[in-house]
Amino acid sequence: SVGTMQQWPLTVTSLLDHAARWHAQQVVTCRTVEGPLTHTTYRQLHIRCQLLALALRDFGVRNQNCVGTIMWNTTRHLEAWYGIAGMGAICHTINPRLFAKDVIYLADNAEDKVIIFDLTFLKLVESLASELKTVKAFILATDRQHMPRSSSIPNLYCYEELLEKQRPYLPFHWTVTDELSACGACYTSGTTGQPKGVFYTHRSNYLTGLSVALPDGLAVDTSSRILLIVPMFHANGWAIPFAAVAAGARLVLPGPAMDGPSVYDLLEHQKCNSTAAVPTVWNGLLLHMQEHNLRLSHLKICVIGGSAAPLSMIKAFQEEYGVEVRHLWGMTETSPIATYNTPKGPMLPMTREQDYSFRVKQGWPHFLNDMRVVDNEGQELPCNGTDQGALQIRGHNIVGQYHKLSSGGANAEGWFDTGDIATIDEWGYMEIRDRSKDVIKSGGEWISSVIIENVAVAHPEVFEAAVIGKPHKKWVERPLLIIVPAPGRQPTKESILGFLKGKIATWWMPDDVVFVEAIPHTGSGKISKLDLRKQLAHVQLR
Ligand code: ADP
Repeated sequence: SVGTMQQWPLTVTSLLDHAARWHAQQVVTCRTVEGPLTHTTYRQLHIRCQLLALALRDFGVRNQNCVGTIMWNTTRHLEAWYGIAGMGAICHTINPRLFAKDVIYLADNAEDKVIIFDLTFLKLVESLASELKTVKAFILATDRQHMPRSSSIPNLYCYEELLEKQRPYLPFHWTVTDELSACGACYTSGTTGQPKGVFYTHRSNYLTGLSVALPDGLAVDTSSRILLIVPMFHANGWAIPFAAVAAGARLVLPGPAMDGPSVYDLLEHQKCNSTAAVPTVWNGLLLHMQEHNLRLSHLKICVIGGSAAPLSMIKAFQEEYGVEVRHLWGMTETSPIATYNTPKGPMLPMTREQDYSFRVKQGWPHFLNDMRVVDNEGQELPCNGTDQGALQIRGHNIVGQYHKLSSGGANAEGWFDTGDIATIDEWGYMEIRDRSKDVIKSGGEWISSVIIENVAVAHPEVFEAAVIGKPHKKWVERPLLIIVPAPGRQPTKESILGFLKGKIATWWMPDDVVFVEAIPHTGSGKISKLDLRKQLAHVQLR
């Protein structure tokens, strides 16, 4: 080749090396599991990542072994992400809200050698430690003072003690050299079957981090203060831990506290100007702010993804609190952020209503990936905003194959079937209509549960809404609307249906409305349609 430039591997630890040297004073703040708020700098973080790598090496962790984490968003979890990656191992983030049997399945499938976990999960880990055959050591992510007096886990170690012991052996020189080696692993939630492992490479995470940091993404720079609410165990932490380190931004980590009052407290007192989470978290925050008549003094950008952000939520943030909503789409298999959603230059100027009509969509693919919608025969459909079909995606941040599985990954041309049904409009904005298994098939036509839900939650007496398909003699399936009333409210069926009238097609009107106290959520805070269907199995449409 005639290129004359240097070539360095794109490792995520090279991002941290850079941050430690050139953003040495930048701070990472954390609401710890133990309670107090702590502050660390990138310089200190860099050292502690090396200490952890040294400790793990002593436990026999080798190149491309997995180390499991069962942790909240904390500084120690961040140390695990980078320390494990830097020694050529793989940080396997485990969702603590899974059933014990699923945790065992994941640790076995990934062959985790060590598990690092937070105090919150001591009981969980005690209940399954003896069944984790590949795990040689369990590290409790706390200091001596908070270690339990006794525990049924025989090979239990104290995180802070382990790190302290390694001080004399600093520095640890990162051993990873291959950008195509894995540095992180995350399993799909299993709501659709057995969880499947997605193994991110240094390169894919490095690139995704850069993409997320760009102005149309989270717009991360050295003055950013990002409240990272989306759990680091949920889909690669939306790659924000890479974006922040790459840009030298300040990270604020909420630990276990993700309820409305705690989120508000961190946003205000840590002066956060951007943040990211699923809609459920924002429901909690908006309710808290409305009830106590609170304002947001610093927040500029609120990233919403994981499930559809309803227009009423987008409007509440923008009009009542002056916060710009960035509605993004992605999945575990796409690292996960795959779209941006801001108004494109050539579309401007736009009226506010036009702006909203794009903002409720899920956006266009960023520079690392490409997408298309196809019909049942696999033929690409036109980008006209109405033709809907299976959404496929390919690119640098997209899974090729699942761990240890020969099927279910991308096809020979790299196209990965997302399992979502979507449209793409003339401007390239993709809109999710449904997950293919949630879409309601009525008389040969499709009804989008997502769209009905988003209209219903705008009703002033509704806190949360979900729509599922119910078997129907004549139409095969018809929509059933499930409503959680706003606190202290008792909306009627007539008022809800009246509210929907004119906002959705007549034949989309739900056949019935059911009021419940709560709707079940998945481990990542999304409405669990699977559980909801079970819960409402007794309800029948006439
Ligand atoms: P799970 O939801 O199964 O825990 P993922 O986080 O990987 O695992 O979920 C990805 C799915 O979430 C997507 O396929 C899509 O259906 C849904 N999703 C993600 N972001 C959005 C969004 N902005 N709007 C609508 N659906 C979304």
